[in-house]
Amino acid sequence: MSLIEKLSAEFRQRCEAIATEQRNLLQLKAFERLPANTLAAKLKATLLTPDQFPNLPAEQVERLLKSDEWSGAIVCDRPVIIVYNPRHAATRYESNVMHEIAHILLNHKFVGFDSLTGLPKRKQINEDEATYLGGCLQIPQRGLLWATQRKMRLPEIAVYFGASEAMVQFRSNVTNVPVSS
Ligand SMILES: [Zn+2]
Repeated sequence: MSLIEKLSAEFRQRCEAIATEQRNLLQLKAFERLPANTLAAKLKATLLTPDQFPNLPAEQVERLLKSDEWSGAIVCDRPVIIVYNPRHAATRYESNVMHEIAHILLNHKFVGFDSLTGLPKRKQINEDEATYLGGCLQIPQRGLLWATQRKMRLPEIAVYFGASEAMVQFRSNVTNVPVSS
């Protein structure tokens, strides 16, 4: 089942509303780019690479730094500390961090630890919700509409939002806003 089939229309609308609301709180227009670092700073979340987080065992730090198999994780709730994978490209960093921020905004609890990475994990439905909201935060439907009205093409939209082209395509598919390549 695809992500969009697993999530209700109501939930997806709520995500768009959250993306607008968070921009409003930062005095950004609904269509403007919102860098993950800006939103993280507003939420007083600290972003660290595994070696910068003092509480992780050396062996785990080494494993995480060598692996592409993980993206990010919230390793502390209060204050919020997000550990991210420094091996990923800038566009992937944006979606990784927005995904973690989405967990915070949706108030998701963690349900154990991933056996491979030792990092906290959540229920699969919460993962799907965070992935969806993360995409909305990066590229809101209103942002996509604005960009297409300005005749921006997919690669330009990706640059404008600091997103991957795959993310633009995904957001186009799920919002029914056609984007020309
Ligand atoms: Zn997650």
